[in-house]
Amino acid sequence: MTRMSVLPPLHVVATERVTPRMQRVTLGGSHAEVLAGLETIPPAAHVRLLFAEPGAPVVLPEPGPTGLTWPDDDSRPYARSMTVRALDRDRGEMAIDIALHGDSAAGRWATAARPGDPAGIVGPGGGWTPPADADEVLLAGDETALPAIAALLEWLPRHTPVRAAVEVEDAADEQELARPVRWVHRAAGGSLLDVVRARPVPDGAAAWVAGEGHVVKAIREDLRIAQGLARSHCHAIRYWTRGRSHEDSDRTFGAARAEAARRGITLVTTQDVHEMSYELMTGGFPLPTA
Ligand SMILES: Cc1cc2nc3c(=O)[nH]c(=O)nc-3n(C[C@H](O)[C@H](O)[C@H](O)COP(=O)(O)OP(=O)(O)OC[C@H]3O[C@@H](n4cnc5c(N)ncnc54)[C@H](O)[C@@H]3O)c2cc1C
Repeated sequence: MTRMSVLPPLHVVATERVTPRMQRVTLGGSHAEVLAGLETIPPAAHVRLLFAEPGAPVVLPEPGPTGLTWPDDDSRPYARSMTVRALDRDRGEMAIDIALHGDSAAGRWATAARPGDPAGIVGPGGGWTPPADADEVLLAGDETALPAIAALLEWLPRHTPVRAAVEVEDAADEQELARPVRWVHRAAGGSLLDVVRARPVPDGAAAWVAGEGHVVKAIREDLRIAQGLARSHCHAIRYWTRGRSHEDSDRTFGAARAEAARRGITLVTTQDVHEMSYELMTGGFPLPTA
């Protein structure tokens, strides 16, 4: 396992309500030079955002060869996977867009956050760029995937044809992005799966999909099995699961790793871990291996 990087303590430097249900929190502060010095990260890279209840300090974990060592449970901060929406090296600032969906830990923190509030970052890691031979790209996701889709749309070369679909509650959640996007409104009965199914991807395309677990699973099955997209060209990742908190999902991943080890299966990529955890949750579904 690679050693995970825990950045030194950071602070909120600004907040902004991007749309009624999306709060941007920008981190920087006394250790801004660490953000300024980060290596180039691919679009859609993510971090573990560490935060506490409003007003409380954030105790950071220690990195180690087998993962992170956390403080005791009483002082352990919330840890939520979030996308790096933007990294401004000149200012030493990282912007994170947090979807607001009712009374959740991340939403409470993001809406209450004020300049000077403490926060921690583990990472960044991950990110996605299409395979070199992909001659068209499909991007699909919900509001949790919107920061990644926005970053990908800024990154992808202008000559690469891109089809992007984003499911949000309604028109108030739409954002100005680098390229046109098909906005799917849940409130009006729209469904991301229907939109992806309605227009199959052409041969040679690559897809990046993220959002709610059951929706991602259905889209992945459609792309891989019905549309015949190769595994190498279909990056479909669960960002959250209805009815399960982030802590619940982390436990599923742990169980998936343990079950894979028991069966002698080697999990290499994040996608492998996700597929195994889907299998545990759903009793398995067949996927072509190519
Ligand atoms: C790699 C990666 C990158 C991500 N990037 C982002 C990002 O940039 N911005 C972002 O907002 N999210 C992002 N997410 C998703 C985010 O980590 C989860 O949505 C997380 O559960 C939010 O934490 P919470 O405290 O709001 O809710 P939790 O305490 O984890 O969950 C509480 C309840 O809310 C439900 N829930 C969680 N998220 C949503 C939602 N979006 N809509 C409706 N119900 C929900 C859960 O099912 C649960 O029932 C990312 C996830 C991954 C894996």
